[in-house]
Amino acid sequence: MSDLTDAKRAEIKAALAEFERRSAVVEEEMKPLQARLVPSQKRLDEIEGEREAYLEQFEDDIAGKCETCGKLLFVGEPGQRPHDDDPGIIYCALHGMTFADVLEAWRGAGELDEYQMKDRDNARKSVDDHVANGGLLSDIMPGVV
Ligand SMILES: [Zn+2]
Repeated sequence: MSDLTDAKRAEIKAALAEFERRSAVVEEEMKPLQARLVPSQKRLDEIEGEREAYLEQFEDDIAGKCETCGKLLFVGEPGQRPHDDDPGIIYCALHGMTFADVLEAWRGAGELDEYQMKDRDNARKSVDDHVANGGLLSDIMPGVV
């Protein structure tokens, strides 16, 4: 329970009313500006609709955009789709996870079920194989999107 006096409470209510009044003045000033933006916003919405319709034609061919650099990636191009639980996240061949990143990700994984343990063991094996063949932990893991 607040121990503010009735006078202090009245002062706070008056201050908030003054903020409301000042905001209402600015909102009134903005109305003509917002009205002028409506046609432009409508045109932007139309372009976005056209863009989506255009891309729908190629939905089987376009994998998505690199999460880091935004590069458009076509299905089968080099890159990574590292998250089974979020397959929309992809990376180009330059911005994918390194072998060290994979080890680090599993190090912080916490409790694992038997399938996750199998995935972790497979990941460790691929890192071991890569290093055994002269690869570096800093190499980006190969893959396709
Ligand atoms: Zn990239």
